[in-house]
Amino acid sequence: MPDPIESESRKLLGRLRQAMAGDSAGQERLDKIVGLIASSMQTEVCSIYLFRDADTLELCATEGLAEESVHKTRMRLGEGLVGRVARTRRVINAADAPSARGFRYMPETGEERYSSFCGVPIQRLGDALGVLVVQSRDAREYSADEVYALEVVAMVLAEMTELGAFVGEGAALSARHQHPVMFRGTIAQEGAAEGRVFLHDPRVVVTNPISDDPAHEMERLRTAVEELRTSVDALLSGNRSMTNEQVEIFEAYRMFANSRSWMRRMEADIDTGLTAEAAVEKEQSLARTRLTQGGDTYMRERLNDLDDLSNRLLRILTGQGRDTGAEMPENPILIARTIGPGELLDYGKKLRGIVLEDGSVGSHATVVARAWAIPLIINAKGITTEALNGDAILVDGDQGVAHLRPDEAVQSAFRDKLAMQTRAQERYASIRDEPATTLCGTTIGLYMNAGLLADLPSLENSGALGVGLFRTELQFLIRSQMPKRSELSALYRRVMDASAGKPVAFRTLDIGSDKVLPYMKPNDEPNPAMGWRAIRVGLDKPGILRMQLQALVRAASGGPLTVMFPFITLLSEYRAARAELDKVLARERRLGNPLPASLSVGAMLETPSLAFAPDAFFEEVDFISVGGNDLKQFFYAADRENERVRRRYDTLNHSFLSLIELIVSRCRAAGTPISFCGEDAGRPIEAICFAACGFDSLSMRPTSVGPVKHLLRRVHLGEVRDVMAQARHSGELTVREAVSAYLKGHM
Ligand code: PEP
Ligand code: MG
Repeated sequence: MPDPIESESRKLLGRLRQAMAGDSAGQERLDKIVGLIASSMQTEVCSIYLFRDADTLELCATEGLAEESVHKTRMRLGEGLVGRVARTRRVINAADAPSARGFRYMPETGEERYSSFCGVPIQRLGDALGVLVVQSRDAREYSADEVYALEVVAMVLAEMTELGAFVGEGAALSARHQHPVMFRGTIAQEGAAEGRVFLHDPRVVVTNPISDDPAHEMERLRTAVEELRTSVDALLSGNRSMTNEQVEIFEAYRMFANSRSWMRRMEADIDTGLTAEAAVEKEQSLARTRLTQGGDTYMRERLNDLDDLSNRLLRILTGQGRDTGAEMPENPILIARTIGPGELLDYGKKLRGIVLEDGSVGSHATVVARAWAIPLIINAKGITTEALNGDAILVDGDQGVAHLRPDEAVQSAFRDKLAMQTRAQERYASIRDEPATTLCGTTIGLYMNAGLLADLPSLENSGALGVGLFRTELQFLIRSQMPKRSELSALYRRVMDASAGKPVAFRTLDIGSDKVLPYMKPNDEPNPAMGWRAIRVGLDKPGILRMQLQALVRAASGGPLTVMFPFITLLSEYRAARAELDKVLARERRLGNPLPASLSVGAMLETPSLAFAPDAFFEEVDFISVGGNDLKQFFYAADRENERVRRRYDTLNHSFLSLIELIVSRCRAAGTPISFCGEDAGRPIEAICFAACGFDSLSMRPTSVGPVKHLLRRVHLGEVRDVMAQARHSGELTVREAVSAYLKGHM
């Protein structure tokens, strides 16, 4: 640790600030800085290498190496010692550089004269921007204090680079955040969108990294940390509805907020001449580097907590809130680390696309984005640090790729793709009011899935015959309190009105599993997807189920009503749920309220056991809707939310198709209508196969209705059945390739 009284780095930073104060151009500043560092550290060479593009470093200024090599000498990431520092984001301090691992000699620089080498990464929040290097003739190893001083200077250089301090005439440098960058994430909602970045949580900008008054900065830091501690304590004590997981997170926050070692490190940074905010950011940067360099999950989680906490502290210190007053651009693409469903709903449907750094396919935000058919990519690592408000961005939800600040070639290829999609949409619009009748004369009912009132306009645009699955839990999830019966009833009425006579199948609450109500005491379940969820909750807490059923009956106000129960596993559960409905109907009759003119009560088949239920089940239900998302996860024992396994098993695999055929045949035998409402219903190849298997109807996202209908109208289901049978007969494990080849001939 440096001498706190008058450390080398503080002196150096003081001189650096003077050098930066004038309004010199970018290159001039860089030249001054390298000269200053070399003389202060009494070393012959000081050089700054910055990233030219994502893979190439360029020598941008030097004191000591050949002047002609500036802006000429380049190396790839990982190449030579400089490239290695940039890639590993670790310091290399070698007394005898030529014999160090990875050394590569750059003849044009004249560096053969220098023996020792010390390179430190120039990085900001875990993001490598370049490398600061000192070299000397004698084979000396730089001391820990010298390395520390270099790290502090590198941190300031990172801030300056970020602020564009080195851009300008003759500098041949482009500022950070101007290069195109591609992010590969996980597909959460397909679709393509072009727009401009809108940051949910704009990053804090540190404009004053250097200070000459450590005592004042120390005081600022202490006051800010005190405020942070109080706010974390208040969060913990004031919020009773927190889940165990949330409590754990905030406990970790509290631990960090009270951490002496964190505080000590920041105080030492201030001692070296940094401002309080620069000290916070320096430690945050180091933590981020460790975060990206692996470690166990627990450690990563804790470092994530520290990252969030640092952001809070930075906001306190700089006074920069979330709301920076940045106007939402046209065609906004929302960029965030994560986002809650409520916040997403606040933004509304004006968003064109969403890219999240974290997130999960089963999160509520994903559910909302899907319901709205907004392209969504999750797990796009690094996007929140790279993107700036207003940046151009292309979201390719079909490939799970986002192109930030795309170059012209990418942009034009993307626009071609969009144009093709628009042409396809026009084609679908032309058959919107036509039936989905195949060449062999079978008509399949195409319905849409919905969950919000805002989804209903899609009913008309998509050409769906009605809503085959209305997920009622969304209304419960987006509120902070349990909705009242009268509110629910009014909402269901509005849904019925908006559907203008088309049928809507209301699914009763499917909470539990990944859908935890913010106002219900969470259960710590080891395996929530197979735990206390959906109808299991409904039957154990009949008050909620009855309240919802009553709201539905009242909303129908004498008109038709379709209800289905989720996650039925046994015939007895269906009977018990239906008995609750009968009780509600009897009560409404007693109260003199009108009963539904026609009532259709179905069950969702989402567990394999139900396929083997007694015949009575298939005879008693009015209809069956296959919830393929859940059915598949339990059939294959592959968590639908786990990226590692969720795409592993094909829906069109022989085994799953055999289950599907069994279900269809049992419904046929009982004369019970059967529909499929999982995600697969909206995938064209799957949809065609389901139709060939004998499904009467399919319910899907509104945007899938057109493509599925288009294809259905061009096939002969007998031929599809033959293709499927042949593929299975010849031993193929999935019929996908065979059916896909058949369909290609019918496009
Ligand atoms: C399903 O499981 O397929 C289904 C439609 O229900 P959810 O996706 O809401 O669980
Ligand atoms: Mg389900």
